[in-house]
Amino acid sequence: MLTQINGLHHVTSLARDAKQNNAFFTERLGLRRVKKTVNFDRPDIYHLYYGDTTGSPGTVMTYFPSAERERRKPGTGEVAQTTFSVPAGAIGYWRQRLSEFGTDGLKEEFLFDEKRLLFCGPDGECFALVEVENNPRLGWTAQQVSADVALRGFHSVSLRLNEDRVTAELLTFMGYQKVKTEGRVTRFSIPDGNGAHLVDLETRPDFEPAVQGAGSVHHIAFSVDDRRKQLEVREALTDAGHQVTPVIDRDYFWAIYFRSAGGILFEIATNEPGFDRDEDITQLGEALKLPTQHEHLRAGLELSLPEI
Ligand code: ZN
Repeated sequence: MLTQINGLHHVTSLARDAKQNNAFFTERLGLRRVKKTVNFDRPDIYHLYYGDTTGSPGTVMTYFPSAERERRKPGTGEVAQTTFSVPAGAIGYWRQRLSEFGTDGLKEEFLFDEKRLLFCGPDGECFALVEVENNPRLGWTAQQVSADVALRGFHSVSLRLNEDRVTAELLTFMGYQKVKTEGRVTRFSIPDGNGAHLVDLETRPDFEPAVQGAGSVHHIAFSVDDRRKQLEVREALTDAGHQVTPVIDRDYFWAIYFRSAGGILFEIATNEPGFDRDEDITQLGEALKLPTQHEHLRAGLELSLPEI
């Protein structure tokens, strides 16, 4: 069993409209946009990152918005819900705020004795807020959302699977421990994790496989401290038979990817070097940052990318 993984690092999803996506996460949810860059493989579309003040690992929701996408068809083999942590007592505030913004899918429920507020994103993707007592993480509070209610990073992701055995085995190999089962959902946790260290597996043999599109989570990334630990994880995964990519430099972290047997793309990302690598912490996410190999496209991209 591995011990290098701390929990989630980031969650990356697909969207249609960059402006709408940016407004949803910054104005409605009060996250900080910590990077405005482009997709490495498709520099004609944005890669937008939203998180806490510095884009700490375990807080960062990222998107590839592209106007030509069809909406996804929900099903198995996908991330069904991404859940953020909020301070105890904050859900009433969020229910009212999200309602005032006309947010779809607002509903309160309990799971594993935790109160949570479900809601939908602009592309129909499913989110929840869960109240967590004594969360030491801080939120981004420079906008309209005050510190006592601000989002404190991820709480968990929920993976919807045809069957959960292989994914449960994989998570266990990665360092997660089974906590308990309630109905169709089994919870896994990393001991002494980074606050974003829960994964729920929901078994739905009655569902068809999901079709990826706008609103789909493209991949989930797990956090390791540094490149040395990432190489240890890569070697262990490869030895266990997983097809893992070489280490790829993503400018703000190093990444390796592999497809989990349940169908979901997993990434292992380093906490180094971080989002202040190429801009001052006070100005994160404001300027358009381009990977070096795409810098020659800047003039055209500044005209073609939607203004946000
Ligand atoms: Zn990623």
